[in-house]
This record gives sequence, structure tokens and C-alpha cells, in this order.
Amino acid sequence: MHDVIVVGAGDAGLSVAFHAASKGLMVALIDKGNVGGTCVNNGCVPSKTLIHAADRIMEIREASQLGIRAEIADIDFGAVMGRMRRAVKGGRNSIKKAIEETENIAFFSGECHFSDERTIMVGSDKIQGKKIFIASGARPSIPPIKGLDKVRYLTNESVLELERKPDRMIFIGGGYVGLEYAHFFSAIGTKVIIADRNEGLLHFEEPEISDLLMSELGKRTELHMGVEIAEVRDTDGGHAVSVRNVVTGKSEEIFADAVMVAAGRRSNADLLKVENAGIETDKANFVKVDEYLQTNKKHIWAVGDAIGKAMFTHAGDKEAELAWHNATHRKKIRMDFGSVPHAVFTSPQIASVGMTEERARKEHEVLVGRADYSDTVMGEAMGESRGFAKAVVEKGTGRILGFHIIGPHAAMLIQEVVNAVILGGDIKSVTGCMHIFPALSNLIPEAFDSLG
Ligand SMILES: Cc1cc2nc3c(=O)[nH]c(=O)nc-3n(C[C@H](O)[C@H](O)[C@H](O)COP(=O)(O)OP(=O)(O)OC[C@H]3O[C@@H](n4cnc5c(N)ncnc54)[C@H](O)[C@@H]3O)c2cc1C
Repeated sequence: MHDVIVVGAGDAGLSVAFHAASKGLMVALIDKGNVGGTCVNNGCVPSKTLIHAADRIMEIREASQLGIRAEIADIDFGAVMGRMRRAVKGGRNSIKKAIEETENIAFFSGECHFSDERTIMVGSDKIQGKKIFIASGARPSIPPIKGLDKVRYLTNESVLELERKPDRMIFIGGGYVGLEYAHFFSAIGTKVIIADRNEGLLHFEEPEISDLLMSELGKRTELHMGVEIAEVRDTDGGHAVSVRNVVTGKSEEIFADAVMVAAGRRSNADLLKVENAGIETDKANFVKVDEYLQTNKKHIWAVGDAIGKAMFTHAGDKEAELAWHNATHRKKIRMDFGSVPHAVFTSPQIASVGMTEERARKEHEVLVGRADYSDTVMGEAMGESRGFAKAVVEKGTGRILGFHIIGPHAAMLIQEVVNAVILGGDIKSVTGCMHIFPALSNLIPEAFDSLG
């Protein structure tokens, strides 16, 4: 009997496994794939390594606005992809080494499933544990589109194996995964087409952020919004994708040599057969947990993408830390999903924490502030004429309810607001601090100063 079983050696599972091992407990860690899970192997690490190259390309292309004449002589697709693969391999190898060097972690390689609430089968190995942590993540959701199963489409996994840059690429789905890869491929010179069922991109963001992203991305890509994909089929040189406008009913066929499906993520609870342990799942089959990350079984916790809530690495890491704490301490700590920030690494970049204005107005009396990058000296110096920050604050208390940025370094800039939100601070915890002049961070107090 192991003290702890962890299913999934992605970020969330590894965090639990190393916490448990550091306390001298005997840990069984199980994974059917490469250690490091989605983030290291086919999520954050490869996508951000590629996007870094895309951002540099954009900078060179836009340099003429600063009076600099620069040309890109060549983009070596093989070298760009090779750099990404080395980053993935490096990350994976260092995790492998850390697991091997931790004596009390026994690693089991293979797909596993529950046979009862205390027992997990990996092949013929029967593993039993006192405490079980489910960190089984999620996988690409493949919509039931006619003909899709007959063509070689790409996902966030297979796109990393491309040896040749596609000339024309259609993205089925305009969520953040699709848009980040659309940014990369359009920057390296692929003709990118995005087809999405919604009228706007990233409809969960502030509408003015979604609109700006759409107009900027629309300059470099072809957007087909409010469409359903009717069929995908192979043609001589590639694929044909039939799209139908959901309002007008008008259909057209789009040709591309690559099709990438980026239509969201689905739960892995089916592979794990959680029903054999009597573990409850939600409507989308993600593992149900309470605010302390415990399932309906007292000895089983679930963290990371497996619970289908805030599907980001930093959220999974926090959940892992709290689940481990809650499993080992009498005084439990709640997971605060309201303070989970997120970023979308497109161009322009987006970052957000807390509620949108519309959502906040349903529950609070609010003040809203906005500052453009060009309102700050550094934003002006950069010639940044599009980006802005928006603050949503509770009237009377000054409590920060939401903060949203679109523009350069948005993910970095938002961090001080995230810290303030997590510490329950009001706007004074930001505006009362000195900000180095004339750094881009002046954007944040500027947005709070304009509340009205
Ligand atoms: C393209 C892309 C880009 C992303 N970019 C970002 C980003 O920039 N920032 C960010 O915060 N997040 C990003 N994410 C999301 C982030 O990668 C995930 O939220 C995070 O990796 C989830 O970690 P996890 O440990 O919960 O699950 P995973 O990392 O998916 O790990 C789950 C593990 O469980 C294993 N497993 C599943 N079922 C079984 C079974 N039955 N038996 C054995 N093993 C099993 C899987 O093999 C896998 O290794 C991105 C995701 C994608 C797809």
C-alpha cells in the first residue's frame, strides 16, 4: 500500500508528488505519456518558444514605424521548430532526472484506471494507496465534423511535428490555443484562416478587447466568424473545409494545405474510469471537487485540468499546493478561482484577472477606469497607439473586481494587480506605491486614476 498515488505527471501531479515525497512518504506516480504533461510537451513551453520567434518577426516588420528600415532575409522553419523541440526535450529530461533521483517516488509508465476506490490498475500492476490525487489533465476535443476522421488534421500535439511550413492553414476554433498558433503561423508567412462559431474572438474577454484583437488579427489573417464547419475532405494538394454562416445559411469551401483543430479540451476521466471508484463528475465529465479540491470520496482529491475549471498551469500548481495542504492539515484552505489570472499570447497580447465590467455590474456598484498605453510616457515613446488597460472597481470600497489589458507585455504588467487582488487589497495598494518613471507599469495607476 502506497501512502500516496498521483495519476498524471503533468505540472499539477508533479507538484503533489514532490510535496509528498519531501515528507518522506511512499509515492506512486503514474503517467501514460511523457513526464511534464501538457505544459512541457505540447502546451505552454513549445507554444511560447514559437511565439517568441513570432513576436520578434512582428517587431522587425513594424520597425519602419520607428524610422528603422529592416528586412527579414529568411525564416528557417526547421531551425525555429528545432529550437522549440530542444526546449521541450530539456524540460522533460530535467523532470525525468528529478523523478529518478527521488528515492521514494515509484514511477509507473502506462495508461491506468480505477478498479475500485482504493485500487488503480496500470497494465497488470495493481496499485493501492491511502490518499489518491487525480491530476489526469485534459486532451484536445475533436468535434464530430463530417469527414474530419478521414483527414490528417493537426492538434496542439501533432502541430509540433510539422517538418514543412504550411502555405495555407485553416484553424477550426478561435479560442486561445488556436489564436496563439494563428499568430505564430501568420508571422512566419503562412496564410492563416480562422473559422469560429462565435461572432467575436475570445468572447469571455471584455468586448473592447475582443474587438481590438479581432481588428488587429484581421489585418494578418482571414476571419470567418459565426460559421459552422459542415465538412472536411481531402483534395489533391490538401484539404477543403466547408463552412456555413449560422445566420445567413450561406456556405463556402475553403482550401488549405493544413487544418488545425483547436476546439477546446475534453476530460480524461473516461480513460481513468473514475466511475469504478464512485467519483462524481460534472456535465462535461470533469472530476467534481469541492472548494477544498476534495472529490466526493474522502481520500481522493483532484487538481489541474482534470477538474475543468481554470485550465492554466499556474492555477493547477496552486490547486496542487492547496489540495496537498488540505489532505494533510486539519485547517483547510479554499481555492479562490476568482483571482486566477490568464493571458493570451497573441499580438497584441492580452491579460486579465477577475470580473469583466458586465459581470461585475450584475453583483456590485462599480466604477470603471481606462488608460491607453499612449497616456503613459513609455507607451508614447514606443509608439503604441492601440493598447489599453481597463479597471473595474467596487464603488465605495475601492476593491479591485477586475483588470484587463491588451497590448505589449500585458501578462507581465498585470502581475501587480493580481498580487493586490489575491491579497484582498483595494486600489490604494497599487496607486499608493511608487512606480518607476517612465516605465510601462505607469499604465496601471493611470487606469485606476481615471475611475468614474
Ligand atoms: C497549446 C497550449 C498552450 C498552453 N499555454 C498555456 C500558457 O501559456 N499558460 C498556462 O498557464 N497554461 C497554458 N496551457 C494550459 C496548460 O498547459 C494546462 O493547464 C496544464 O498543463 C495542465 O496541467 P495538468 O497537470 O493539470 O495536466 P497535464 O499536464 O495534461 O497532465 C496530465 C497527465 O496525466 C496523464 N494521464 C491522463 N490520463 C491518464 C491515465 N488514465 N493513465 C495514465 N496517465 C494519464 C497524461 O498523460 C498527462 O501527462 C496551454 C495548453 C495548451 C494545449
